[in-house]
Amino acid sequence: MDRQEEFVLRTLEERDIRFVRLWFTDVLGSLKSVAVAPAELEGAFADGIGFDGSAIEGFARVHESDMIARPDPSTFQLLPWRGEYPGVARMFCDILLPDGSPSYADPRWVLKRNLSKASEMGFTFYTHPEIEFFLLRERPEVGSTPVPVDSGGYYDHIPHSVAHDFRRTSITMLEAMGISVEYSHHESAPGQQEIDLRYADALTTADNIMSFRLVMKEVAMEQGVWATFMPKPFTEYPGSGMHTHISLFEGDQNAFYEAGAEWQLSKTARAFIAGLLKHAPEITAVCNQWVNSYKRLWGGAERTAGAGGEAPAYVCWGHNNRSALVRVPMYKPQKGNSTRLEFRSLDAACNPYLAFSVMLAAGMKGVEKGYELPPGAEDDVWALTSAERRALGIKPLPADLNEAIRVMEQSELVAEALGEHVFDFFLRNKREEWADYRRQVTRYELDRYLPML
Ligand code: GLU
Ligand code: MG
Ligand code: MG
Repeated sequence: MDRQEEFVLRTLEERDIRFVRLWFTDVLGSLKSVAVAPAELEGAFADGIGFDGSAIEGFARVHESDMIARPDPSTFQLLPWRGEYPGVARMFCDILLPDGSPSYADPRWVLKRNLSKASEMGFTFYTHPEIEFFLLRERPEVGSTPVPVDSGGYYDHIPHSVAHDFRRTSITMLEAMGISVEYSHHESAPGQQEIDLRYADALTTADNIMSFRLVMKEVAMEQGVWATFMPKPFTEYPGSGMHTHISLFEGDQNAFYEAGAEWQLSKTARAFIAGLLKHAPEITAVCNQWVNSYKRLWGGAERTAGAGGEAPAYVCWGHNNRSALVRVPMYKPQKGNSTRLEFRSLDAACNPYLAFSVMLAAGMKGVEKGYELPPGAEDDVWALTSAERRALGIKPLPADLNEAIRVMEQSELVAEALGEHVFDFFLRNKREEWADYRRQVTRYELDRYLPML
């Protein structure tokens, strides 16, 4: 047993913890949990805990359903919302096949594989997510209309607002779990919140996002409201994104920074951005995985008053340009180690392990092949005509899930980054989602066509 495992067992005993939840994530990004008694843990560290993988989205083909969850002791934390006694703790797990090898279907393994590929080239990948979500008055029922908890807007400070108490309690819980928060504020739509996590290596950030989504939902329920990461719950308001700041380090040096270079951006940074841009359409299905994700991306493209917010729909990069897909933030002097890029298409309803994998793969392809960075777009690209955008070489992101699936199907880069099994499962599942959506007759059609046709 190693020292971290010993620490976990000692803490369980000292704190009299009765339940340990073993967490893992399915291919679509839902958190899964098995609770074990502390007495089982020594064995779990050594051999893992067996479970039926065929019940988990994307995990196993039926004839090989036996799977093993082995807890990662470095992720041990108490769950603060469960109270002091009897205490509950959690650990994220790695998923193994019966022969002890890592499961090809485990999103955490997919990310680890991509991170070690970058590390063979000398790089560590750091991310910092800005997570947006809505607080609604009530738990959604089928057929109900969502109502935001307040009518605040961007950075509003509303007296006696539900959102203040909510943010205070939830951030205190995140901090108690070792997840540091950098900023939090009211976002631009009624009921919409943003909480930004401090940057960390991408595996830690992905684990943190999984914890974050659960904490927000738990705290909301405790306070009698509902938290949703649905990308676009309202036609009339902007959606919720998860803009993600990215940096690559070589040892303790930020590989994106070069003193004296244009915008202080190193050759590596420029090639990484070029990789993200070139492969952006292929990775969109993974970064924006739901039918609804595309309502967020395109809700603002025509600038319908207030409806779109600042979600990107076109493939370009810029500095102060909030319509760009990749932004190099300029609000702080880009000094040394703080140099970073902001990738803005991602939404918070993605599977963060898979999304970080394809973002890294796209950027690293640019670095590996030395892609040239196209000129930045300093205009508001939404305000240009499509002819102007074409002349500037600015392409659109996929218009909907169907188009995103079609582009992803052709992508060697995504197949390699996800591995064959996850790639095939994901596409199959998303094709089904699209087919199911396509046959629906919507409220929009009834309201528009019944009186007219
Ligand atoms: N809610 C916007 C989006 O969907 C982002 C607003 C902002 O923080 O700039 O991406
Ligand atoms: Mg925001
Ligand atoms: Mg942002």
